[in-house]
Amino acid sequence: MLRIGLVMLQGARHVHMAALRAAAESADIEIEIHELRKASDLESADPHALVFPGGESTTMRLTGNDPASGLLPALFAWIRADSTRPVLGTCAGAILLCDPQDGGDPLVAAEIDRNAFGRQVDSFQSALESALLDRQFPGVFIRAPRFTNLSAPAQAIAMLGEEVVGVREGNRLALTFHPELSEDAGFHEWLLRTAKEVTA
Ligand code: GLN
Repeated sequence: MLRIGLVMLQGARHVHMAALRAAAESADIEIEIHELRKASDLESADPHALVFPGGESTTMRLTGNDPASGLLPALFAWIRADSTRPVLGTCAGAILLCDPQDGGDPLVAAEIDRNAFGRQVDSFQSALESALLDRQFPGVFIRAPRFTNLSAPAQAIAMLGEEVVGVREGNRLALTFHPELSEDAGFHEWLLRTAKEVTA
């Protein structure tokens, strides 16, 4: 049984649960989803993988750094402890991975610019090309950030035309789109399969 930690600070959480369940079904992997709200939840869940949803990164920083929660510093420590730990960060989750603002190194070595697609294209859908899944993927972008610079060992794993929209470092994925809002659970499936491999 794989334990998946779902960061519940704010934003798109329940759709991730549905995507995880769909992925578990198609990969035939048994999972248990653990909702993480405070540092002690992470400790008791002892997850094999993490999902860091989108939402508003400023709100997530406030709630997650509040001493009553303490979840953000605990998550960053958990992720930094081992780069093979599978993490899926989407949109605001990707912002936090690339720019943790805690004085430590980024968890995914890419610079990221918030709300960088501008107001006129606040939200849009477009097919993207994913090298990780080796196929096209329906990209849903909502007030999406933009990667401005990647440094090794981070590598591009999803492209919207010439634009990098997905980055991988170790088993950490930072995506500027919302895979949980498409019918395709491919990235969630990747997370589960990777967690299973790492755990085996
Ligand atoms: N605009 C949000 C932020 O800056 C991210 C958008 C999202 O997660 N859908 O945090």
